[in-house]
Amino acid sequence: MAAIELKGLTKVYPGGVKALDSLDLEIPDGEFFALLGPSGCGKTTLLRTIAGLETATGGAIVIGDRDVTGVQPGARDVAMVFQDYALFPHMDVTDNIAYPLRIKKVAKAVRAEKAREVGERLGLAHLMDRRPGQLSGGQQQRVALARVMATQAQAFLFDEPLSNLDARLRLEARTFLKKLQRELGVTTVFVTHDQAEALAMADRMAVMENGLIRQIGTPAEVFQRPANTFVASFIGSTPMNLLDGQVRGERLEVAGCKLPVPSSVEGRLSDGEQIVYGVRPEYMTYSAEPVEGAFGGRVSIMENLGAAHLVTLEVNDTLVQVVVQEGSEPPLGAEGFAVPKDGRALVYRDG
Ligand code: ADP
Ligand code: MG
Repeated sequence: MAAIELKGLTKVYPGGVKALDSLDLEIPDGEFFALLGPSGCGKTTLLRTIAGLETATGGAIVIGDRDVTGVQPGARDVAMVFQDYALFPHMDVTDNIAYPLRIKKVAKAVRAEKAREVGERLGLAHLMDRRPGQLSGGQQQRVALARVMATQAQAFLFDEPLSNLDARLRLEARTFLKKLQRELGVTTVFVTHDQAEALAMADRMAVMENGLIRQIGTPAEVFQRPANTFVASFIGSTPMNLLDGQVRGERLEVAGCKLPVPSSVEGRLSDGEQIVYGVRPEYMTYSAEPVEGAFGGRVSIMENLGAAHLVTLEVNDTLVQVVVQEGSEPPLGAEGFAVPKDGRALVYRDG
């Protein structure tokens, strides 16, 4: 097991697409690191470059104490799971799991024993003679995982490994994979475009946009304090309220309402400055009675979230959303107030 370090890693494809733009990243030994970003932002390129399947245009990759930038993929000691699993259809489960060991010229009996051991651990013991075509999606995914585990690599690279599973299985696989990584303690880079998956699984995570890392932190840090409006709008199961506003003396004017400057603001804002006011619907409370320093408006939409409702207030032609716990939801058309919780609102000046 080993730490991974990227120094100024850059990848420009022939044709000129800059898929990785001088990335710096340190992933300590044993960490579960999630790489999150929209389609096309460079996630797969980053994994393939770490694995050596793409050649870096610039920068360096260090795994453990070894600079592997120019090293052949087979000698980098990392194992990658692809989105489509890339199982061999004509081989049974045992041979699929043991395949990387065959490439490493491990003796047949040792290979079979290792495949059996890993297969058992992943609940595949009764399926070892089947071919991929005779397995469910979830089982195929476990075979792909088993194959990676059998290699005893220094690091695991996962490229959206859960995205082909249906919603329910996906949640189960999340927990299973997380537990497995804990037990094995292997440094893991897990790529996903699903923010909930990244938040749920990662020790730390990075959010990418256009070949750049826009924020690195723990899931709690990224959720509670998104560094910019891109990350703010990308993270969260209900979209964050991102509202244009202006500094007016000691206060902010947002959606026609007067609000206090949030305690999260460092330094002074200048009078008249344009800002973006960010607050998650979960970080506001709803009040039917008028409250100072809150958004006042009319309830125009209600969405059921299960144990809570997402209430949309129409505030002087701006929509502001607030999460209301089950049982306290207001009637449609009611006059109401969304009150930012102390210290939870953020001010962006990058919008
Ligand atoms: P993601 O995995 O986040 O969806 P990719 O790493 O696949 O993103 O792609 C990043 C960018 O690089 C995209 O603009 C994509 O079109 C481009 N790209 C990916 N692979 C190639 C390639 N082999 N040749 C040229 N451009 C590529
Ligand atoms: Mg991809």
